[in-house]
Amino acid sequence: MLVRLKLGTPESVARDILSRLRMAGLAVHRTAHEGRIRIAAVGDLSAVDWAEVARWEGVDGAEPLKRPFKLASRAFHPHDTIVSVGRADIGSDQIVLMAGPCSIEGETQAFTIAEAVARAGATVMRGGAYKPRTSPYAFQGLGEEGLKLLRRAADAFGLAVVSEVMDSQQVPLLARYADILQIGARNMQNYALLREVGHADKPVLLKRGLASTIEEWLLSAEHIMAQGNSQVILCERGIRTFETYTRNTLDLNAVPVVKELSHLPIVVDPSHGVGIRDKVAPMARAAVAAGADGLIIEVHHDPDRALSDGPQSLYPEQFTELVQQIRTIAEVVGRRV
Ligand code: PEP
Ligand code: MN
Repeated sequence: MLVRLKLGTPESVARDILSRLRMAGLAVHRTAHEGRIRIAAVGDLSAVDWAEVARWEGVDGAEPLKRPFKLASRAFHPHDTIVSVGRADIGSDQIVLMAGPCSIEGETQAFTIAEAVARAGATVMRGGAYKPRTSPYAFQGLGEEGLKLLRRAADAFGLAVVSEVMDSQQVPLLARYADILQIGARNMQNYALLREVGHADKPVLLKRGLASTIEEWLLSAEHIMAQGNSQVILCERGIRTFETYTRNTLDLNAVPVVKELSHLPIVVDPSHGVGIRDKVAPMARAAVAAGADGLIIEVHHDPDRALSDGPQSLYPEQFTELVQQIRTIAEVVGRRV
């Protein structure tokens, strides 16, 4: 239920409304839009007489939040959420560029790539230390050692850090090193993990599941937000379809659809979305044209020897050239890099 308060409702009255709703057994979340407080009340709504609530002092109106996701919905929170980390304001007019290797493999690799992507214009460095690999025999990441290298390399070039957390026990460790906690596609419906990052004091980059609908994805965001963490960045990374010429099918439809349904920022990962190096740049350009708030792209200085996802990693020069193109496209859609 959405409870809208009148303009200028004193804080004491707002608190009273919140506590009365809580006393009815509901969980309440508040936001403000154009100076008016808005409250989302979730739980067993039948416990409350909503016509009566609409007459409470300070209340302007109460209406149902019709979508299954509530806190993630634009109906609750009409203006865009901006998630700020370091120099990146994700969801603002800035197109945020996140780039780096699929996996952190060593010191030289991490520093070489950090320098290249920072110089090209990235503000966030990506790099996995705990890798969800389809095969148990594939490289699984360097673990905490990888996180340390990623942090040092990113700091050396003024970049923020995004890295994947694979299970709930790892959240405190990842939160020590990363500025943004990445939930991988395979874990989009790992509700114990979503709950745990929902309690973390760090933004979460939530990748879309391999075969998830937009609604399921937004409900996963809702799981995080319901625990109190509203700093969620959605990431479209391709879904599985019958097509076999590409690794996945990058669903750019999701960008304008999410923009209408939700206030959360959305970034696009064309690297996993298409899975083929020379197709990454065209899809990255298309993502920005479609209204994405940023890109997350795999870059490697020696992709033939990369321990994961070499075939879809851009060479640093390709990334640099792409950023130039993105600057031009950003301007056309009223954004900037
Ligand atoms: C990754 O970012 O390297 C990764 C494993 O992504 P996804 O979860 O989208 O497959
Ligand atoms: Mn990868």
